[in-house]
Amino acid sequence: MSTIAKSPHWRFLLDLILPARCRACHRTLRAETNPCFCPDCWDTVSRIDGPCCPRCGKPFASAAALSHSPGHLCGDCRERSPKFDRAVSAGWYEGVLAEAIHLFKYRGKTLLTRPLGDLLLPAIKRLPEADVLVPVPLHPSRLREREFNQALLLCDYLGAESGLPVIPDALERIRVTPPQIGLSHEDRRRNVRRAFVPKRPERLEGRRPVLIDDVFTTGATVNECARPLKRAGAESVFVLTVARTPAGGG
Ligand SMILES: [Zn+2]
Ligand SMILES: [Zn+2]
Repeated sequence: MSTIAKSPHWRFLLDLILPARCRACHRTLRAETNPCFCPDCWDTVSRIDGPCCPRCGKPFASAAALSHSPGHLCGDCRERSPKFDRAVSAGWYEGVLAEAIHLFKYRGKTLLTRPLGDLLLPAIKRLPEADVLVPVPLHPSRLREREFNQALLLCDYLGAESGLPVIPDALERIRVTPPQIGLSHEDRRRNVRRAFVPKRPERLEGRRPVLIDDVFTTGATVNECARPLKRAGAESVFVLTVARTPAGGG
C-alpha cells in the first residue's frame, strides 16, 4: 500500500468506499458477525482457561500449586488482598484481541460488541454465583467525548445472552482520572482512589454483582469499584474482563 493510503485520513476514506477487509490479514470479509476480523484470524485469540489464581485470575504456569491446595493465591494477592472476590478474563491482551479492543473503544467500532461479548460467555460460567451485571462507569465528561461506555455495551449484550439483569448506573465515576497507561502499580491505585460511588445503594444489598470491563491490567480500577459495591451491601463482588495484559503490565 502506498504511503498516502497509510495516513489515517486516507484509511478512513478507504474504509468507507472499499469492501470491509480483515484488519489482520486484509482478506475481504464475508461473515457479518465480526466486522473487523476474518474467522481464521479471530481464532488466533489466545483464551485464558487454564489454572489461575482463584482470586485475581492471574494464570499459573501449571496446576501443581492448585492440586495441593485449591485456594492457593498468587504472590500479589497474598501480599495485598483484593477487594473483589474473584476475577476472570476471557483472553490475553495481545494480537487481534488487543487490536479489536482498541478499535472498539477508541475508533467507535461498536459492532465488535458481539464478538467480544461472545468471548465473555464461556468466561462468565466460571462465576456461577454472580446474579447481576454492573459496568465500570466512565466519567460523564469522558462519556460525552466517546459517546458510549464500552463496558455498558458488553454488559447489555451479556445480559441479553445470559439472562442476568444489568444495573447500568450502579456506580458513578465522580472524578476524572488520567489514563492508567504507563503508571506504576502504586500510582494506578492512587490515580483511581475514591473515584467511584454507588448510586441508590439499596439495589446492591445482598447481591453478587459482576463488574464488567474491557481490560484487566493491575486490577486497580476494578478493585476501587469493588469497595463501594461492598459498602453498599453486596455479598460478593466478581470481575469479568474481555482481556488481561500479560504479566499485569501494559
Ligand atoms: Zn484475517
Ligand atoms: Zn492473585
